[in-house]
Amino acid sequence: MPQARGTRARDTRQAAAVIAVMSAAPSFCGAREIHDDVQRHGQAIGLATVYRHLRVLAEHGSVEVVRSADGQARYRLRRGGITHLLTCRVCGRAVEVDGTEVWEWARQVAAEAGFTLTRHVVELAGVCPEHTATHAPLRSVPAGEPGLG
Ligand SMILES: [Zn+2]
Repeated sequence: MPQARGTRARDTRQAAAVIAVMSAAPSFCGAREIHDDVQRHGQAIGLATVYRHLRVLAEHGSVEVVRSADGQARYRLRRGGITHLLTCRVCGRAVEVDGTEVWEWARQVAAEAGFTLTRHVVELAGVCPEHTATHAPLRSVPAGEPGLG
Protein backbone atom coordinates (compact mmCIF):
# COMPACT_ATOMS: atom_id res chain seq x y z
CA MET A 1 0.00 0.00 0.00
CA PRO A 2 2.36 2.74 -1.19
CA GLN A 3 -0.30 5.43 -0.72
CA ALA A 4 -1.17 4.46 2.84
CA ARG A 5 0.77 7.24 4.56
CA GLY A 6 -0.54 9.93 2.27
CA THR A 7 -4.07 8.60 2.71
CA ARG A 8 -3.81 8.83 6.48
CA ALA A 9 -2.43 12.37 6.32
CA ARG A 10 -5.34 13.34 4.07
CA ASP A 11 -7.74 11.63 6.45
CA THR A 12 -6.45 13.70 9.37
CA ARG A 13 -6.72 16.92 7.33
CA GLN A 14 -10.28 16.05 6.33
CA ALA A 15 -11.28 15.30 9.91
CA ALA A 16 -9.80 18.62 11.00
CA ALA A 17 -11.69 20.40 8.20
CA VAL A 18 -14.99 18.79 9.25
CA ILE A 19 -14.41 19.83 12.86
CA ALA A 20 -13.43 23.36 11.82
CA VAL A 21 -16.59 23.78 9.74
CA MET A 22 -18.76 22.41 12.54
CA SER A 23 -17.16 24.60 15.18
CA ALA A 24 -18.06 27.63 13.05
CA ALA A 25 -21.67 26.49 12.60
CA PRO A 26 -24.19 28.17 14.93
CA SER A 27 -26.34 25.07 15.33
CA PHE A 28 -27.15 21.64 13.96
CA CYS A 29 -26.40 21.13 10.29
CA GLY A 30 -26.77 18.33 7.81
CA ALA A 31 -23.92 16.27 6.44
CA ARG A 32 -24.43 17.79 2.98
CA GLU A 33 -24.09 21.34 4.36
CA ILE A 34 -20.93 20.32 6.20
CA HIS A 35 -19.66 18.69 3.03
CA ASP A 36 -20.35 21.82 0.94
CA ASP A 37 -18.69 24.04 3.55
CA VAL A 38 -15.57 21.89 3.68
CA GLN A 39 -15.38 22.03 -0.12
CA ARG A 40 -15.82 25.81 -0.01
CA HIS A 41 -12.81 25.98 2.30
CA GLY A 42 -10.77 24.29 -0.41
CA GLN A 43 -10.61 20.76 0.97
CA ALA A 44 -11.54 18.05 -1.53
CA ILE A 45 -13.79 15.60 0.29
CA GLY A 46 -16.52 13.15 -0.62
CA LEU A 47 -19.90 13.09 1.06
CA ALA A 48 -19.32 9.48 2.15
CA THR A 49 -16.10 10.61 3.85
CA VAL A 50 -17.97 13.36 5.68
CA TYR A 51 -20.46 10.76 6.93
CA ARG A 52 -17.60 8.52 8.05
CA HIS A 53 -15.94 11.32 10.04
CA LEU A 54 -19.29 12.33 11.55
CA ARG A 55 -19.93 8.74 12.63
CA VAL A 56 -16.52 8.47 14.32
CA LEU A 57 -17.00 11.85 16.03
CA ALA A 58 -20.46 10.78 17.22
CA GLU A 59 -19.06 7.50 18.57
CA HIS A 60 -16.55 9.54 20.56
CA GLY A 61 -19.32 11.71 21.92
CA SER A 62 -17.86 14.83 20.39
CA VAL A 63 -20.76 15.28 17.98
CA GLU A 64 -24.43 15.30 18.89
CA VAL A 65 -26.85 13.81 16.40
CA VAL A 66 -30.54 14.65 16.08
CA ARG A 67 -33.06 13.50 13.50
CA SER A 68 -35.27 16.07 11.85
CA ALA A 69 -38.89 15.35 10.98
CA ASP A 70 -37.95 14.06 7.53
CA GLY A 71 -35.59 11.52 9.10
CA GLN A 72 -32.39 13.33 8.12
CA ALA A 73 -29.59 13.29 10.67
CA ARG A 74 -28.29 16.67 11.75
CA TYR A 75 -25.03 17.17 13.57
CA ARG A 76 -23.57 19.62 16.05
CA LEU A 77 -20.19 19.74 17.66
CA ARG A 78 -20.66 19.19 21.37
CA ARG A 79 -19.78 22.31 23.32
CA GLY A 80 -16.26 22.08 24.66
CA GLY A 81 -15.42 19.41 22.11
CA ILE A 82 -14.36 16.10 23.56
CA THR A 83 -14.74 15.87 27.30
CA HIS A 84 -13.80 13.34 29.91
CA LEU A 85 -15.08 13.00 33.44
CA LEU A 86 -12.79 13.74 36.34
CA THR A 87 -14.24 12.04 39.41
CA CYS A 88 -13.49 12.69 43.08
CA ARG A 89 -12.46 9.43 44.76
CA VAL A 90 -13.96 10.59 48.04
CA CYS A 91 -17.40 12.02 47.23
CA GLY A 92 -17.91 10.89 43.65
CA ARG A 93 -18.41 14.42 42.37
CA ALA A 94 -17.50 14.59 38.68
CA VAL A 95 -16.52 17.50 36.47
CA GLU A 96 -16.05 17.55 32.70
CA VAL A 97 -12.57 18.29 31.44
CA ASP A 98 -11.45 18.93 27.89
CA GLY A 99 -10.15 15.78 26.21
CA THR A 100 -9.48 17.09 22.72
CA GLU A 101 -5.71 16.76 22.98
CA VAL A 102 -5.96 13.21 24.32
CA TRP A 103 -8.30 12.30 21.49
CA GLU A 104 -6.00 13.84 18.89
CA TRP A 105 -3.04 12.02 20.38
CA ALA A 106 -4.97 8.71 20.33
CA ARG A 107 -5.94 9.21 16.69
CA GLN A 108 -2.36 10.08 15.84
CA VAL A 109 -0.71 7.05 17.45
CA ALA A 110 -3.43 4.78 16.04
CA ALA A 111 -2.85 6.19 12.55
CA GLU A 112 0.90 5.69 12.90
CA ALA A 113 0.21 2.01 13.64
CA GLY A 114 -2.04 1.83 10.60
CA PHE A 115 -5.24 1.76 12.68
CA THR A 116 -8.38 3.83 12.44
CA LEU A 117 -9.32 4.76 15.96
CA THR A 118 -12.90 3.77 16.79
CA ARG A 119 -12.91 4.02 20.56
CA HIS A 120 -10.88 5.56 23.34
CA VAL A 121 -11.53 5.31 27.04
CA VAL A 122 -10.02 7.69 29.56
CA GLU A 123 -10.62 7.46 33.29
CA LEU A 124 -9.57 10.35 35.47
CA ALA A 125 -9.84 10.18 39.24
CA GLY A 126 -8.60 12.52 41.93
CA VAL A 127 -9.59 14.36 45.06
CA CYS A 128 -11.81 17.41 44.68
CA PRO A 129 -10.91 20.78 46.30
CA GLU A 130 -13.30 20.18 49.22
CA HIS A 131 -11.67 16.88 50.11
CA THR A 132 -8.02 17.62 49.38
CA ALA A 133 -7.45 18.90 52.94
CA THR A 134 -9.06 15.92 54.67
CA HIS A 135 -7.84 13.21 52.34
CA ALA A 136 -4.10 13.45 51.80
CA PRO A 137 -3.26 13.10 48.13
CA LEU A 138 -1.73 9.83 47.04
CA ARG A 139 2.05 9.78 47.20
CA SER A 140 3.26 10.97 43.83
CA VAL A 141 5.37 8.72 41.66
CA PRO A 142 9.06 9.73 41.82
CA ALA A 143 10.21 11.38 38.63
CA GLY A 144 11.97 9.13 36.20
CA GLU A 145 10.76 5.89 37.75
CA PRO A 146 9.76 3.60 34.90
CA GLY A 147 6.86 1.24 34.67
CA LEU A 148 4.50 3.05 36.99
CA GLY A 149 1.27 4.79 36.22
ZN1 LIG B 1 -14.85 15.20 46.91
